[in-house]
Amino acid sequence: MNQLADHVTGPVLAPHDERYDAERTGWQIARRHRPDLVVGAVRPADVQAAVTYASARGLPVAVQGTGHAAAAVAGTSGVLITTARMSAVRVDADAGTARVAAGTRWDQVVRAAAPAGLAPLSGSAPHVGAVSYTLGGGLGLLSRTFGYAADHVRGLDVVTADGRLRHVGPDREPDLFWALRGGRDNFGVVTAMEIDLMPVTTVYGGALVFPVETAADVFGTYLRWAATVPDAMNSSIALIALPNSPAIPAPLRGRRSVHVRIACTVGDPAAGERLVAPLRALGPSIDTLGALAYQDAGSIHDEPAEPAAVESDTALLGDLDDHAVRAILDRISLDAAVPHVVELRQLGGRLAHQPAVANAVGNRDARYLLNLVSRLAGTDTGPARSAHTGLLDALAPWSTGGRFLNFMNGADAASQVRSAYSAADHRRLTGIKAVHDPQNVFRLNHNIPPTQN
Ligand SMILES: Cc1cc2nc3c(=O)[nH]c(=O)nc-3n(C[C@H](O)[C@H](O)[C@H](O)COP(=O)(O)OP(=O)(O)OC[C@H]3O[C@@H](n4cnc5c(N)ncnc54)[C@H](O)[C@@H]3O)c2cc1C
Repeated sequence: MNQLADHVTGPVLAPHDERYDAERTGWQIARRHRPDLVVGAVRPADVQAAVTYASARGLPVAVQGTGHAAAAVAGTSGVLITTARMSAVRVDADAGTARVAAGTRWDQVVRAAAPAGLAPLSGSAPHVGAVSYTLGGGLGLLSRTFGYAADHVRGLDVVTADGRLRHVGPDREPDLFWALRGGRDNFGVVTAMEIDLMPVTTVYGGALVFPVETAADVFGTYLRWAATVPDAMNSSIALIALPNSPAIPAPLRGRRSVHVRIACTVGDPAAGERLVAPLRALGPSIDTLGALAYQDAGSIHDEPAEPAAVESDTALLGDLDDHAVRAILDRISLDAAVPHVVELRQLGGRLAHQPAVANAVGNRDARYLLNLVSRLAGTDTGPARSAHTGLLDALAPWSTGGRFLNFMNGADAASQVRSAYSAADHRRLTGIKAVHDPQNVFRLNHNIPPTQN
């Protein structure tokens, strides 16, 4: 341990250290990493030292940005590298790009880009780490308009299992560059990324909230409407169990409600108004739609930033009809708090296209992403698991069989990694893994095993 601490600027902590718990804890607190050592990296050289130390001793290496996926990837040994201290954004307004360090959250990138009239392809929650989100695909608020965040990466700095810091891009180590964008953490620790920013300052966005009694009508209308909208319309629909809090309007308090979330890039708010008219005609109890600065776009989903213990599951679905809506609503108990969220995000648009520089993000033909989230009151995951399994089974007829890596944060994620890729891409990933990480040092993750093809 001392040998490592001598080469690292940040803290190197063992389980007996009083700072150990805080260092290993991220957003998800249902399961946390329990490594032999935590290295709080301050600079790429710290990451190199930690990886070299672990590789030489046959120890696995885990990485934690903001810890939103910890339930799926938390390990019980090895070296955990935390990147929170490597937090920096540099915007090049002329080039329309940003250089983003490993531990940076999306809200930091959004704030840095806004003065230049630009926006990143960030997700629904501004507190999620930008780098891990992007490497896992990155399904953002504006993804139907522009594609996955991984489709707009220009270059990556990555420390591979041999401890080398490499700069990869379309013309430098293109295989590794392809694999990292979608294969996430299997090939090294990314210390910084260079990404495209989009010319977006304002969206037509917000949420419409409906009482649960109208759920069948709202879901049915939403699905028919979504089939007609242009790529500029980004939306999702969710059934959410709202808390019994005075902050929530009385008719919705302590009950489930239906939320339609909108982020539309049509430019003219009047055009946005026309597009959402069929949804508004259903008479929402809450309507926050209007011109919205992208800096405030976190309010569209309004996901809590405080650490939480949650169980989640996901599936990718094809086109949905009234039978699919019935399958969901028949499984939802109005009294139970689980699942807390049942969400369908509309895919398609630019998400269905291969980017200019191909990457490993798979399943581009899916039409909807299903996201199930249940808050855990204690350690008993039973009610959440059975509610999720029931919903996944009921929706099996509409499942494509694929999954999107970033939302595979549940207990079964480790056994489901293949479903994030086509068979050919998974084979290619295992071959690239065999070249860059033959000992599978990076295995505390959604693992792609090294295989000589
Ligand atoms: C509330 C919430 C909202 C979300 N919204 C969206 C969304 O809108 N769109 C979307 O696509 N996803 C979304 N996600 C999923 C999220 O993008 C992934 O869970 C992502 O991995 C979280 O990033 P993190 O920094 O918290 O990762 P961590 O939990 O810290 O790490 C997750 C994985 O990424 C790897 N990793 C972390 N940093 C690096 C690095 N520097 N180099 C290599 N690998 C690394 C780790 O090894 C680990 O396996 C959401 C998740 C939550 C909980």
